[in-house]
Amino acid sequence: VIAIRDLAKQFGDQAVLSGINLDLNQGEVKVLMGSSGSGKSTLLRCLNRLVEPTSGSIQFKGKEILDASVDVRALRKQIGFVFQQFALYSHLTVLENVTLALRKLEGMGLKEANEKALHELSQFEMAPHQSKYPSQLSGGQKQRVAIARALAMDPAVLLLDEPTSALDPVMSRDVCDLINHLHRNGITMLCVTHDLGLASGIADRVLFLDKGVIRADERIDVLANDHSDPELQAFFGKRE
Ligand code: ATP
Ligand code: MG
Repeated sequence: VIAIRDLAKQFGDQAVLSGINLDLNQGEVKVLMGSSGSGKSTLLRCLNRLVEPTSGSIQFKGKEILDASVDVRALRKQIGFVFQQFALYSHLTVLENVTLALRKLEGMGLKEANEKALHELSQFEMAPHQSKYPSQLSGGQKQRVAIARALAMDPAVLLLDEPTSALDPVMSRDVCDLINHLHRNGITMLCVTHDLGLASGIADRVLFLDKGVIRADERIDVLANDHSDPELQAFFGKRE
């Protein structure tokens, strides 16, 4: 569904991404790893136009999404995003966090939006918490609300930026199970993570980004045991 070709991004004179080629097929889950500052979040952000690439092409369902004429709101309904720090609205309840985009972007009425939101929340066992505010939730619960909110838009692709970075190991396991559940339901995902457990739990193949260049697109066990590449070894070695 997504084909990235020769994508580059400069911030001022800093080349953050260069020569990125990446394919994400329907129903596939790919994980993007790499050290801090290697450009992972920037790459995800290019995919729903939160960041404008300097050059290159991104096709989504066969259409160029970087054209000036593309409807960015419509694109963001199709390509859901779960941010590194959940980004829930603290002044809104759980239910309101999920209904907001349904009402604003989809133009749904209150009743219909509430029904749709509750349906999503109940899938993640969050319906009983619908009236709470984000400050009253655990990290794992916040993450589930953030994922439910993204899925309420029925996106074709879900982008996840370090979905377990703020979670303890038990909650990370829950998110891992949740992603596998979504995978079985055919949702296409690209997930950034530093968490090797999560990576090996959800994806067969891992992309390794190093200084803005994709250095590997491989099975995770192969990557972890690749002793020919010093950058890879440094990355995986320090996590063992
Ligand atoms: P982390 O693992 O820490 O989240 P990352 O791989 O997601 O790191 P990015 O957030 O993509 O890294 O950042 C890559 C580089 O781009 C960094 O050097 C960062 O300082 C720079 N950068 C990111 N956003 C901007 C911006 N809006 N303006 C200028 N530089 C930026
Ligand atoms: Mg990041």
